Amino acid sequence: MEKRRLAVISNRLPIVLKKEQRGKWQIEPGSGGLVTALGPVLKNRDGIWIGWMGTNAEEEPAGPLLEDLIRRGTRETGYSLKPVHLTKEEVNKYYHGFSNEILWPLFHDLFSRCNFDLSYWPFYEQVNRKFAQAVVSNTDENDYVWVQDYQLILVGRELKRLGLKRQTGYFLHIPFPPLDIFLKLPWRFEILEALMEYDLVGFQTVRDLRNFVGCVRALFNYKVAKEKFMNRILRPDGEVLVGAFPISIDYREFEDLARTGEVAEMAWSIHENLPNRQLVLGVDRLDYTKGIPHRLLAFAHALECYPDMRRKVTLIQVVVPSRVDVEEYGNLKQEIERIVGEINGRFTEVGWTPIHYIYRSLPRQELVAYYKTCEIALVTPLKDGMNLIAKEYCASNIEEKGILILSEFAGAASQLHRDALLVNPYDRQRMADTIHAALRMQDDERQARMRRLRRFIKRHDIINWVNSFLHAGIARNLGDFPQA
Ligand code: UDP
Repeated sequence: MEKRRLAVISNRLPIVLKKEQRGKWQIEPGSGGLVTALGPVLKNRDGIWIGWMGTNAEEEPAGPLLEDLIRRGTRETGYSLKPVHLTKEEVNKYYHGFSNEILWPLFHDLFSRCNFDLSYWPFYEQVNRKFAQAVVSNTDENDYVWVQDYQLILVGRELKRLGLKRQTGYFLHIPFPPLDIFLKLPWRFEILEALMEYDLVGFQTVRDLRNFVGCVRALFNYKVAKEKFMNRILRPDGEVLVGAFPISIDYREFEDLARTGEVAEMAWSIHENLPNRQLVLGVDRLDYTKGIPHRLLAFAHALECYPDMRRKVTLIQVVVPSRVDVEEYGNLKQEIERIVGEINGRFTEVGWTPIHYIYRSLPRQELVAYYKTCEIALVTPLKDGMNLIAKEYCASNIEEKGILILSEFAGAASQLHRDALLVNPYDRQRMADTIHAALRMQDDERQARMRRLRRFIKRHDIINWVNSFLHAGIARNLGDFPQA
């Protein structure tokens, strides 16, 4: 593949700016699969990353201090970091408002949670323009510009309005909704048209891709040419390539960590403290799309229907704090804690508590210890772009005895449906039956399923995802990349 300089544009930079207790500013490296995967590519291509640092322009450091912090970040990551500064009002209306109160719920099919506040749109446009201006200042015509996710849909459009020619790609990390839902968006034409301003648009699954193409067909009279692994949408003034590129994890990192002595010790101690029982694991960011109350109620229903599970099974539910200052999320936390309390109050016996509830972010080692040792992972979002927890659980489950119970509405189900046990998170009875069936599954079947899951994820890891997208974007050829 031709070696071009790469510019990644995402809402957040891969470093976090933090103020220490004594008032001194520090930078910390960001984590997550995207940072791990893009790091080597960016280093190798003399790349740059453009994004917001997570602070308000009114409060963050400026001048030489900021320059020094950014220089340090650039040195540590090995590629250039270019911050976009946002005012408090921009953060509120572009990020909390348009992105998280409109696009996030709507694209997760939860239309009734949308707040179509008219004041958000101009700020969404304004901030996307700011990002586009940062692209203009920091790239040249030969660079490949790769824009990430729902906060930045308009960057491609803004680049064109600024009269700039760049080869551009866009990847949507969250689902793309079906026509009936997308039509409700007051800015449906603008959003759809803006997506078609990129040269390549990637979605998580074929279902998302079909939803997008369905919306394009309904709202615009453009021709869609189908090819083996992608579609070409023929606009009057050009064409856009669209494809499915299911994102993945750094498989090696999870597997290697699961093999360390420290993780083995932690895993042993988890089971030692909860003896003679099978452990069911739920790990989710606090979010209404994750279906945490539905899952807890299904687990309680299983205890009700199958008394043989009592004393022999414990659900460990990890909830990672997120957007806690938003009222809706605070209410969700309270609801989860009420349900956990009610279930534990109802079923607990001496020596057995049915649900262990953890409300904090876990260090990576501890998380992997849970992945490694829990017999079942219950990953049951109401809707999810991909869901990396499902893949991380398999990569870390090196003894290959675990069972993945997976929502059919997680993007991961499009790839893992053969060997995970699929459930509809709204169907409490089937969820309960599936949990019970999983607990009774024979070792050889567990092993055969987990082995196949692991082999698949290993082959389709995050490096493969980056390469496939760039191959399609830069060479404009999807090759034989297997679609979900
Ligand atoms: N995770 C974390 N801290 C924790 C538990 C999980 O950082 O205590 C990470 C986990 O490793 C995974 C991510 O959070 O990479 C969750 O990704 P997913 O796609 O499942 O959901 P998202 O939160 O992006 O909607």
